[in-house]
Amino acid sequence: MEFPGQKFKPTKDRFSKARGGPSKFLYIACENCDEPTMVYQKDGPGRLLRCYADRIVWPPELVDQQREVDATTIKEAGALACGSCESILGTPMIYKQEDRAAYRIVPGAIQTFRSAEQYQARQE
Ligand SMILES: [Zn+2]
Repeated sequence: MEFPGQKFKPTKDRFSKARGGPSKFLYIACENCDEPTMVYQKDGPGRLLRCYADRIVWPPELVDQQREVDATTIKEAGALACGSCESILGTPMIYKQEDRAAYRIVPGAIQTFRSAEQYQARQE
Protein backbone atom coordinates (compact mmCIF):
# COMPACT_ATOMS: atom_id res chain seq x y z
CA MET A 1 0.00 0.00 0.00
CA GLU A 2 0.97 3.62 -0.40
CA PHE A 3 0.04 6.36 2.00
CA PRO A 4 -2.78 8.53 0.66
CA GLY A 5 -2.03 11.99 -0.72
CA GLN A 6 -5.27 13.44 0.63
CA LYS A 7 -5.36 15.69 3.69
CA PHE A 8 -7.43 14.66 6.67
CA LYS A 9 -9.57 16.85 8.85
CA PRO A 10 -9.22 16.21 12.58
CA THR A 11 -12.22 14.93 14.50
CA LYS A 12 -12.95 17.18 17.45
CA ASP A 13 -14.97 15.73 20.28
CA ARG A 14 -14.90 15.20 24.04
CA PHE A 15 -11.89 12.91 23.71
CA SER A 16 -9.72 15.39 21.84
CA LYS A 17 -10.84 18.17 24.21
CA ALA A 18 -9.87 16.01 27.18
CA ARG A 19 -6.33 15.62 25.76
CA GLY A 20 -5.91 19.35 25.19
CA GLY A 21 -3.70 20.93 22.55
CA PRO A 22 -3.81 20.30 18.83
CA SER A 23 -4.44 17.02 17.08
CA LYS A 24 -2.07 15.77 14.38
CA PHE A 25 -2.01 12.91 11.94
CA LEU A 26 0.65 10.23 12.18
CA TYR A 27 1.58 8.14 9.17
CA ILE A 28 2.43 4.77 10.63
CA ALA A 29 4.58 2.23 8.83
CA CYS A 30 5.76 -1.22 9.88
CA GLU A 31 9.24 -1.12 11.41
CA ASN A 32 10.04 -4.58 10.14
CA CYS A 33 9.22 -4.17 6.43
CA ASP A 34 8.46 -0.41 5.92
CA GLU A 35 4.91 -1.10 4.67
CA PRO A 36 2.51 1.82 5.24
CA THR A 37 -0.10 0.47 7.64
CA MET A 38 -2.34 3.33 8.78
CA VAL A 39 -2.93 7.02 9.27
CA TYR A 40 -3.90 7.90 12.80
CA GLN A 41 -5.22 11.02 14.50
CA LYS A 42 -3.16 11.65 17.62
CA ASP A 43 -4.83 14.00 20.07
CA GLY A 44 -2.73 16.13 22.38
CA PRO A 45 0.91 15.92 23.41
CA GLY A 46 3.06 12.97 24.34
CA ARG A 47 4.33 9.76 22.85
CA LEU A 48 2.11 7.36 20.99
CA LEU A 49 1.43 4.53 23.42
CA ARG A 50 -1.93 3.38 22.12
CA CYS A 51 -4.14 3.89 19.11
CA TYR A 52 -7.84 4.39 19.70
CA ALA A 53 -9.99 2.48 17.24
CA ASP A 54 -12.08 5.58 16.50
CA ARG A 55 -9.03 7.62 15.48
CA ILE A 56 -7.80 5.44 12.62
CA VAL A 57 -8.55 7.39 9.43
CA TRP A 58 -6.86 5.25 6.75
CA PRO A 59 -6.95 2.73 5.04
CA PRO A 60 -10.73 2.60 4.42
CA GLU A 61 -11.01 -1.15 5.05
CA LEU A 62 -9.42 -0.74 8.48
CA VAL A 63 -11.60 2.27 9.24
CA ASP A 64 -14.71 0.24 8.38
CA GLN A 65 -13.49 -2.65 10.49
CA GLN A 66 -12.88 -0.36 13.47
CA ARG A 67 -16.35 1.11 13.19
CA GLU A 68 -17.66 -2.28 14.28
CA VAL A 69 -15.41 -2.34 17.32
CA ASP A 70 -16.17 -0.92 20.74
CA ALA A 71 -15.07 -1.54 24.31
CA THR A 72 -17.25 -4.64 24.53
CA THR A 73 -15.87 -6.28 21.36
CA ILE A 74 -12.29 -5.04 21.04
CA LYS A 75 -10.78 -8.05 22.78
CA GLU A 76 -12.24 -10.34 20.10
CA ALA A 77 -11.16 -8.06 17.27
CA GLY A 78 -7.63 -9.44 17.26
CA ALA A 79 -4.32 -7.63 17.03
CA LEU A 80 -3.39 -4.92 14.56
CA ALA A 81 -0.96 -6.53 12.17
CA CYS A 82 1.11 -5.41 9.21
CA GLY A 83 -0.71 -6.31 5.99
CA SER A 84 2.56 -7.22 4.35
CA CYS A 85 4.77 -9.13 6.82
CA GLU A 86 2.08 -9.79 9.45
CA SER A 87 4.16 -8.40 12.32
CA ILE A 88 1.96 -7.56 15.29
CA LEU A 89 1.85 -3.78 15.66
CA GLY A 90 -0.75 -3.35 18.39
CA THR A 91 -2.71 -5.51 20.79
CA PRO A 92 -6.34 -4.89 21.71
CA MET A 93 -7.10 -3.17 24.99
CA ILE A 94 -9.78 -1.13 26.68
CA TYR A 95 -8.79 2.31 27.89
CA LYS A 96 -10.79 2.05 31.09
CA GLN A 97 -10.87 5.74 32.00
CA GLU A 98 -12.93 6.39 28.87
CA ASP A 99 -14.34 2.90 28.26
CA ARG A 100 -12.78 3.16 24.83
CA ALA A 101 -11.47 0.53 22.41
CA ALA A 102 -7.77 0.86 21.63
CA TYR A 103 -4.64 -0.97 20.57
CA ARG A 104 -1.54 -0.91 22.72
CA ILE A 105 1.41 -0.23 20.44
CA VAL A 106 4.04 -2.96 20.52
CA PRO A 107 7.29 -1.16 21.43
CA GLY A 108 9.60 -0.91 18.43
CA ALA A 109 7.04 -2.31 15.99
CA ILE A 110 6.18 0.91 14.15
CA GLN A 111 7.72 3.97 12.57
CA THR A 112 5.80 7.22 12.55
CA PHE A 113 5.95 10.07 10.07
CA ARG A 114 4.18 13.41 9.92
CA SER A 115 3.16 13.08 6.27
CA ALA A 116 3.22 10.82 3.25
CA GLU A 117 6.00 13.06 1.87
CA GLN A 118 8.13 12.54 4.95
CA TYR A 119 7.71 8.79 4.59
CA GLN A 120 8.70 8.92 0.91
CA ALA A 121 11.72 11.12 1.61
CA ARG A 122 12.98 8.48 4.02
CA GLN A 123 12.78 5.83 1.28
CA GLU A 124 15.15 7.68 -1.01
ZN1 LIG B 1 5.54 -5.37 7.95
